[in-house]
Amino acid sequence: MAAQINTQKKKVGQNIKVVVRVRPFNEKESRGRSRMAVNCISPREIQTKDKKYCFDRVFQPDCNQLDIYSYVVEPMINDVLAGYNCTVFAYGPTGTGKTHTMTGGDPSSLSSLDWRRNEKAGCIPRVAANIFDEIASRKVNDYNVRVSFLELYNEEVRDLLNPDERQPPLNIFNDNKGAVFIQNLNEKNVFNSNDIYELLKQGTLRLDLAGSENIAKSGAKDKRALELANINRSLLILGRVVQSLTEKSNRHVPYRDSKLTRILQDSLGGHTKTCIIATVSPADSSYEVTQCTLEYAMRARDVKNTPMVNEKVTQVQMFKQLTTEIEELKRKLEA
Ligand code: ADP
Ligand code: MG
Repeated sequence: MAAQINTQKKKVGQNIKVVVRVRPFNEKESRGRSRMAVNCISPREIQTKDKKYCFDRVFQPDCNQLDIYSYVVEPMINDVLAGYNCTVFAYGPTGTGKTHTMTGGDPSSLSSLDWRRNEKAGCIPRVAANIFDEIASRKVNDYNVRVSFLELYNEEVRDLLNPDERQPPLNIFNDNKGAVFIQNLNEKNVFNSNDIYELLKQGTLRLDLAGSENIAKSGAKDKRALELANINRSLLILGRVVQSLTEKSNRHVPYRDSKLTRILQDSLGGHTKTCIIATVSPADSSYEVTQCTLEYAMRARDVKNTPMVNEKVTQVQMFKQLTTEIEELKRKLEA
């Protein structure tokens, strides 16, 4: 039986899912009478003046938060409950809607009830509610939902659920299967969606405080330069990781060259089910960065992961299977 379960675990490579979300014009772009630099010509295609790109899905400026959630995140609830690790990450230039897509609204000013009814709510508050709905409807009782919330800033990892302002940066470890662990990162047990909203608010508040502190400190200009250099470095390495994963040659994948790629190691070329949401502006004034983003996203479509069910779940499943078999045998014996 163990062998049977092992063969079930062996899965063929699966391309990671890549979608593009084009936001509406912002005020500045509207005032400047920007023109559209991209055209969403079908649910999967986006056209620029230079090229036509095909993705798993292209979301037009008039799409709403629920459209994205339903396509990208909702199907993953099933996968998570089946024991897969799932990652969703937003990628795109500043101001194109990453935070809007993932969080949406303003977590610090909304009460938890609002999240459910708020059409601005992004993927995180939506999945927080739905995961517990799903657990309740399936009457699953051997589950454990935990939340962690971290910030990666200037190549340092900090725990946003740790109230200590002076916490030292946390260390990242990989096990030999590629799984990533962050030492001393809080993993808070949560029992309903309100618990998650509360942590989301706490973490976001800490993130905002840290942000304004960085600007207020003297030497803000140097700081900003360092910040940008580190962001660029992370993205450069991310690009290199994607590049080497999609090249035919079995080249060394430079995961270890940045914290971002270390954290995402299992999500890119590993055993996780991954979706990237590339966000772009529609305006011709942003055309260059939009094109870079689309090119990057295109390349990422060729990354293959081999999703695998986590050991722990497999053991639980095996236990269940054995229990059923024992019961069946007992019944047969008694008959
Ligand atoms: P990022 O996190 O990528 O820097 P934000 O999510 O903060 O960008 O978005 C920048 C601004 O544009 C915010 O005011 C946000 O509310 C708005 N915005 C982004 N995407 C959309 C969208 N799809 N619809 C409406 N407003 C959006
Ligand atoms: Mg943001």
